[in-house]
Amino acid sequence: MSFEPKRKEEPVYLDANATTPVLPAIVDVVTHAMKVCYGNPSSAHITGVQAKHLLEQARARAKQLVQAGKGDILFTSGATEGIQTAIVSALLDARKHTLQKPVLLYGATEHKAVPNTLKHWNSVLEIHAEVLAIPVDKNGLLDLRFIEDNAVNALVICTMAVNNETGVIQDLRAIENAIRSRNTQCAWMVDCVQAMGKVNLALYKTTIDYAPFSGHKLYAPKGIGMLYIREGAPYTPFIAGGGQESGMRSGTENLPGIASLNELCRLLLDENDTTFRSHEELNEFRNQLKDAIEDTFEEVTFHHEFKLSVPTTLNFSVNNLTSKEVIDLFDAAGIRVSGGSACSSGSNRSFVLDAMGRTNWESENAIRLSFGPADTRAQIETACQRIRSLKPILAQNCLIVSDSQYPNQEACAVGLTQFRHQGACSWLYVASDRSAVIIDPIVELLPRMERLIEKQKLNVQAVLDTHAHQDRESGRVLFAQNLQLAHDDTDELGWPKKLESLRLAENRLEKLATPGHSKDSVSYLLCNDERVSTCFCGDMVLPHGLGATNKLGGDTVALGKSLLALNERLLESTVICSAHDYKQCFAITWAVQKQQIPLLAALVNQDITLDDFVEQHALQSECEHRLHDAKLCGFVNAQASEQFDELSSSDAVKWIKTTTVTVIDIREPYEHSAQCTPCQILEQATTVLNIPLTRMADALISERVDKDGNYLLLCRTGNRSRQATVTLKNLGFKHVFNLKGGVALS
Ligand code: PLP
Repeated sequence: MSFEPKRKEEPVYLDANATTPVLPAIVDVVTHAMKVCYGNPSSAHITGVQAKHLLEQARARAKQLVQAGKGDILFTSGATEGIQTAIVSALLDARKHTLQKPVLLYGATEHKAVPNTLKHWNSVLEIHAEVLAIPVDKNGLLDLRFIEDNAVNALVICTMAVNNETGVIQDLRAIENAIRSRNTQCAWMVDCVQAMGKVNLALYKTTIDYAPFSGHKLYAPKGIGMLYIREGAPYTPFIAGGGQESGMRSGTENLPGIASLNELCRLLLDENDTTFRSHEELNEFRNQLKDAIEDTFEEVTFHHEFKLSVPTTLNFSVNNLTSKEVIDLFDAAGIRVSGGSACSSGSNRSFVLDAMGRTNWESENAIRLSFGPADTRAQIETACQRIRSLKPILAQNCLIVSDSQYPNQEACAVGLTQFRHQGACSWLYVASDRSAVIIDPIVELLPRMERLIEKQKLNVQAVLDTHAHQDRESGRVLFAQNLQLAHDDTDELGWPKKLESLRLAENRLEKLATPGHSKDSVSYLLCNDERVSTCFCGDMVLPHGLGATNKLGGDTVALGKSLLALNERLLESTVICSAHDYKQCFAITWAVQKQQIPLLAALVNQDITLDDFVEQHALQSECEHRLHDAKLCGFVNAQASEQFDELSSSDAVKWIKTTTVTVIDIREPYEHSAQCTPCQILEQATTVLNIPLTRMADALISERVDKDGNYLLLCRTGNRSRQATVTLKNLGFKHVFNLKGGVALS
């Protein structure tokens, strides 16, 4: 595939709820505070007095902005510190309670900083209260009845003004009524981080005791925040020391940070300033983005009611596209968005969407697109253009049903493609005349595969299982029905009874009984003349390990015999395609399989007898089950190397300038085509191949790569290409390097 480097473009940043860039006007005041007004506000000299003036001006403006009335504003390092300070103050005060069953309440969709702080200090301070999540309804709004029912026993109640994942705005007035109608004493904290500059907060009119804010969510730098404290609310300094902030928070003040909030508040308070867009304009921006998303991805679900949310956050999922695919696609087009919440990106579901009762798919594949109130119309228009530019790419790669505006359908499915779902693999083989077979179809992947078949006009000859899967549901019957394949003439695994072999253009698919993992296990051999190029062996052999025999119908003697029979047919170069790829190996040959599984090598080289094999398999499996999940379909005795070599971007440039190097872009074709992040490696390389991980096995079969060649592998961040580098190293490629940090750092 040829590669045309795209123009260099600035990324469009649509992840403002995670953090924002610092506004140029704010950068100026911060610089001024560091260069000119650098005094210590506690110093008596003029430099100190100037600093003190700046500090108090910032406090006065912040009070005005949040309408603090007689309440106080304290500068903190950010919202997390504000949350600690508020909760510790409230809990220390609550120690005098006489309640039988005290509770601490928090909203189920709260930022993790809140429940984790409550639980931590509840335990450290030995309060022994029950920590309860207040449920939300399908719109993300707190259950007021639950609050009313539990408020009498509450020591502290924590809610939020605006949610960071969905932008849902809570009705603080209604929450206040629910709390105060039952309890006038308990402390109430409202996390206002995502509300600042977006909703009007008249704190003096409320009984909110504490409200934390964070600078970096609204164009100020990281490391600065503030905490509103109602007059008379319990307070214990969280940081003691030199008595700064009237003894309420010691430590020399972060004056550059405070200067940034001073300027931010000034801009927000100045009615004639045009830095921030009006609510109407922001609504328009949201509608533009929504239209662009819907036009591009077509089957989109938004997870929140727009009329109940701030206009700057859109949370959605795309049917049949995982959040990873959507984010990679956006990233390749130079648009930065996040999956669910940036702070919980370690987990792959959203507890916020779970609490709202959204489906598993929506929760696991949510995309959060958030912009800031100072973003311009031009920025939003560029974002929309970039989003729309993905449409032809999606259509060409069959990720969405295209409206046939783009007839140039890439023949990306010809050859062998791996489809993975949670460790399980399906394989699609398409011959040059578009006749195809599907092996071990996974039910969750049916819509995607069906679309691919329809769009690329594939002529599916058979949908096959290698055995009746015991760990998951097979999609075979459903798939065959949807494709209207005759099923009365097929055996229980989908093989046409009357046929010895299946013709696939110049190739032939044969079936070989290989019992062992289960009684019904078979392998399918893809042959060109007598040469077996590919073996679909189900769970008999897995990348890095042998199949398990501890399931129904498992038989280690039969497994040993099947391996010997298979060895008779396979070549060293035969590519092995298993029904699982737990270790994310993507491609492996029979030769490497034997190298990595000494027990397999010993058996097929006849260094041990079948009895020895059975004994050692049992010993190794037992040991394996102690280490891994016994439910896995196999995984015995792998000796795979995890070694790989990496080059920094500058070393990689030197290498490609002085040697003949093939650059392999490991990203999926849609990311590769959408590429608009400048990458000097891709620009300077003479030969670029696009071989995604899903097509690594195909690259081996079609001999697109050669063990003696020089290869530099890259992807978005260097993680996927590292896996591919390890795979190629294991396959015996000598000169293969990963680009450290991928396109992101090049
Ligand atoms: N609360 C909410 C709603 C947030 O979005 C965040 C940041 O993601 C925090 C609290 C924590 O803020 P900080 O990063 O200032 O500690």
